[in-house]
Amino acid sequence: MHTKLARRDNYGAHRDPKAIQYLVIHYTGGDGDTAEENAIYFSRDFTETSAHYFVDDNEVWQSVPDDFTAWHCGTKGTYYHPACRNRNSIGIELCSRRGPDGYYYTKSTRKQGIQLVQDLMKRYHIPIERVVRHYDVTHKCCPEPFVRDSYAWSRFRAELEGKEDEPLTIYHTLEEVPAWGTETVKFLLEKGYLAGDDEGDLDLEHYMLRTLVISYRAGSYQ
Ligand SMILES: [Zn+2]
Repeated sequence: MHTKLARRDNYGAHRDPKAIQYLVIHYTGGDGDTAEENAIYFSRDFTETSAHYFVDDNEVWQSVPDDFTAWHCGTKGTYYHPACRNRNSIGIELCSRRGPDGYYYTKSTRKQGIQLVQDLMKRYHIPIERVVRHYDVTHKCCPEPFVRDSYAWSRFRAELEGKEDEPLTIYHTLEEVPAWGTETVKFLLEKGYLAGDDEGDLDLEHYMLRTLVISYRAGSYQ
């Protein structure tokens, strides 16, 4: 864990750590930005926004101490969450990347993020129900990877709960795809209908593959 504090006018008042009841997940909206770069930016520029932590593939940088309020999920508009506010939450920004379908988190950033959130859950006795997306508080499209794909969000939460073995079978590469599915997947890859993420991860869930194979056999892609 590294520390580079934000400019003092980018975050709020001192608070009793007992006030901390929620963890709010964000994405930086960057494409390959690092936690350190973000920490430096908030230490230098006057932004009137802030977050407690920035997470990337390798590092976690603290930008606002836990016992100070950061400005990460406030709004002048409507609150859609009955209780989660800046004053009672910790803001965690996960560095993002941009792929063909939108933003995503690398596996390493996800892993680092999960570790940090688990540590904070333990430290402040925060149950999984109080780990929320920025979206849940204000309906801002943040974190985009978990708003666009609410299933990815439920998987992230399942991992936070230590359900480490995904209850789902996921095929990441063509080699992992069982024999009954390879012809379909090869076809979809060749046609460019299926591309995977930037790292080439197909992320094909078992039943999704079955659906694709059935459609393929039914001639839907001809
Ligand atoms: Zn956010």
